[in-house]
Amino acid sequence: MRPLFRRLMNNRHRSWSIARRLFGISLLLILLQSVISSVVTTQLRRHFFHEHLEETLSRQIVSSYNVISDRLDQLSVDQAYACCSIDDYRSWLEGLSFENGKAGLIIGAAGLQATRDADRFYGTTELSRYAKDAIASSSGFTVDEADEDVPLAVKAVKLPGGDQTGFYVYMRPVYSMPLVRTLMQIKLVSELVLMLALAVALLVGLRLIFRPVRRIQSDLAGIELNRLESAELSSRDRPREFQPLLQEFNGMVGRLRRSSADQKQFASTISHEFRTPMTVISGFIQSVLNRDEGLRVQSRDALMLANREVLRLNRMLSDLLDLSRADNNQLKVLREPFDCLTSFREAFHLAQAAFPGNTITVNEHEFETPVWAVGDPDRLVQCLKNLIGNSVKYSELNSAIELHFEVQGECVLFSVVDHGQGIPGDQQERIFERFQRAEGVTLRRGDSSSGLGLSIVKMLMEGMGGGVRVESEVGIGSRFILTLQRSLL
Ligand code: ADP
Repeated sequence: MRPLFRRLMNNRHRSWSIARRLFGISLLLILLQSVISSVVTTQLRRHFFHEHLEETLSRQIVSSYNVISDRLDQLSVDQAYACCSIDDYRSWLEGLSFENGKAGLIIGAAGLQATRDADRFYGTTELSRYAKDAIASSSGFTVDEADEDVPLAVKAVKLPGGDQTGFYVYMRPVYSMPLVRTLMQIKLVSELVLMLALAVALLVGLRLIFRPVRRIQSDLAGIELNRLESAELSSRDRPREFQPLLQEFNGMVGRLRRSSADQKQFASTISHEFRTPMTVISGFIQSVLNRDEGLRVQSRDALMLANREVLRLNRMLSDLLDLSRADNNQLKVLREPFDCLTSFREAFHLAQAAFPGNTITVNEHEFETPVWAVGDPDRLVQCLKNLIGNSVKYSELNSAIELHFEVQGECVLFSVVDHGQGIPGDQQERIFERFQRAEGVTLRRGDSSSGLGLSIVKMLMEGMGGGVRVESEVGIGSRFILTLQRSLL
């Protein structure tokens, strides 16, 4: 039984389908229930019908039996020969009291028969059958269960005086015995408890059976879209039903991986190929703007607009190139000790030049000496520029921006604070994902947004062993905080 049960439960046996396991377990439980129930019933019968009942009937028959055997004893030899007519027996039984379905019966080998109340309760044919059964049994005791609700207990005792005098038979329905009734109730309750236990066992069994489904579910939940190379699900040790499903899923992952690789390659080629001509165009525009003094105002404005757009396109291409390099594990981010205060100052000066309309304040003067951190100086400047650009973009025109530098234990913190639109709480996490923009945050006319900047900041900061987070309140403003590990050099 044990190996079979283990085989049913063990997911390693792939040949056992879920349906077969369910069927097997149900069959096993039903079998178990029937065996236990029949054992309980047999035990009850043995102990109570055949031990307790027989004892009770033997006790109860004594007084009426004594009355009749006394009568027989009182007869003289002659009288005994002449004895006994049915009327004699009837008159003897007259004196006895039988009630509630109990009955007394004298049955003799010579065919004499006398009943008292017996034929009131039972038909004559049944009476002789019950009596014969009891007389034929070795203990003189039988239980007739033709009527399942109220079985009939019958006890036959030989009367003194040889074959002629016959047997005294006493019978009574069992329902009047409270103990047996109670025991029947106990049997019912025990069967109910058993059924309940089996239901619980079935539930536990089902949970075990569906364990592979839950495992696949948690495997699926753990799949990251940007890690498709490890997204395939192993089909080893999984039930047979799941094999086609897993094969189909793995096939789909393979197709997605190929398509994603094609897309990355395409983005990488495009951004690479576009950058050179863009730089050339920007260079030419710059040189025309720088050299030609006689340009008309309209032409100069048009050229400056074109230059701004070329620079914006260039920035987007750089972002795309960074992302595709990161996807192909080709992005280089340093993790070296560097003076992060210098990079912070550089970002500040670049921001002042890029956004002359905004008042940008900084607390860097509080730090005199270099502060060493682990990371990449250029990438830190890139991240700060990106955050400052966003602060300008998502605030009122010419609003104030604050840059803070802080040393906190083993970390250095760079904060970019604005007093702009702020970001709703439920959006603050997703804005660090690719192509995600915060709902409810609007752009000024003429500005554009790709939804890539913050995902690149996050990727670069994590590449340096640091991180980025945001604290923001709608209508009040935002604080973006970059962190790096201090270098203990
Ligand atoms: P982009 O600015 O090109 O859309 P980002 O990844 O830099 O992409 O930013 C993602 C989104 O986060 C933006 O679209 C904007 O909704 C929100 N956001 C970023 N910075 C700020 C800020 N300083 N104030 C308000 N919202 C911001």
